[in-house]
Amino acid sequence: MENYKITLLKGDGIGPEIVDQAVKVLNKAAEKFDFTVTYDEALLGGCAIDATGVPLPQETIDKCKASDSVILGAVGGPKWDNQPGNNRPEAGLLGIRGALGLFANLRPSVIFGPLKSASPIKDEIIGDDMDIMIVRELTGGIYFGQRGREEDAAWDTEKYSVAEVERIARVAFDLAMKRNKKLTSVDKANVLESSRLWRETVIRVSKDYPEVELNHMYVDNCAMQLVRNPKQFDVIVTSNIFGDILSDEASMIAGSIGMLASASLSGGKLGLYEPIHGSAPDIAGLGIANPLATILSVAMMLRYSLSQPEAAQAIETAVAKVLEQNRTPDIYEDGMNKVSCEQMGDLVCEAL
Ligand code: NAD
Repeated sequence: MENYKITLLKGDGIGPEIVDQAVKVLNKAAEKFDFTVTYDEALLGGCAIDATGVPLPQETIDKCKASDSVILGAVGGPKWDNQPGNNRPEAGLLGIRGALGLFANLRPSVIFGPLKSASPIKDEIIGDDMDIMIVRELTGGIYFGQRGREEDAAWDTEKYSVAEVERIARVAFDLAMKRNKKLTSVDKANVLESSRLWRETVIRVSKDYPEVELNHMYVDNCAMQLVRNPKQFDVIVTSNIFGDILSDEASMIAGSIGMLASASLSGGKLGLYEPIHGSAPDIAGLGIANPLATILSVAMMLRYSLSQPEAAQAIETAVAKVLEQNRTPDIYEDGMNKVSCEQMGDLVCEAL
């Protein structure tokens, strides 16, 4: 029987509560689909600063590297807001992505039928089956390029190498092959030299994926098309900064922040799976956080790192079923059962 070693980075705020529910669901999936999971915990973010003085202790990096995959809750909170920039909880987050070589960020934007009314977009535009996967390059581009500051000027540089574009393009084409075989590459090739290299490289990689229908879109048009006709998209691949902005836009189409999962992948199997929301210090400890984004992140982990697609699908189906009648306060609607974080975890386990 397959055994997986998972490192848990519960983090701060609601992190521990939501990760506990995700672990419960993963254990249930293991029982049902005949595999086992062993867990190790490590510190990241504010809790790591309190215990060790730094947001990302070396021990945390070592434990993550020695595991099959990592589940992260969230980091940060007002307690650590006065830390210098390089010692803030969020610096731990950037640090762990770098240390594990996580260059591909996958952000699905999926509408769960019962939650359609939470979307700000009209019903007829989102339809019943909106399911977009945004693949964002995570370790290159303008966020990591040369920067400078003079008294009355400042600059940041967008630079991509062919190798960087090629590896993210391959992640996106591979994903498209497992989905509807449609890939949109987003750039600003009408203006930016780096985008022209991006486009040429994606076209070259596409020769290895003849079954995937590739199209190119300028980022400004893509921002508009996402709200005008989101159903036209299957997989979108784009640079770090464009992906940052477009994935937030796409996540709003799907409604509540408490529902949205993400994966950050390296070239190998190891991945880091986390909800897109933060540590929600305003509701931490009240037992009302929505654990579904973290539970859906576990489903992504089963699909992309642990090769257990049936278990992943079963969790997603269980979540959809539970949502028909039950809601945490952030997604509550009249006529539903209002449930706590822990009850939501239990209900997903039961539905599994
Ligand atoms: P946030 O996502 O933590 O919260 C925004 C709002 O959404 C809050 O009202 C919160 O209560 C609500 N919310 C978020 N997740 C929820 C959930 N699962 N269930 C119910 N409600 C939920 O964003 P913020 O308030 O801007 O940031 C709080 C802290 O989190 C900051 O320190 C920030 O730096 C950090 N942060 C961390 C990450 C991360 O760990 N990946 C991401 C974003 C923000």
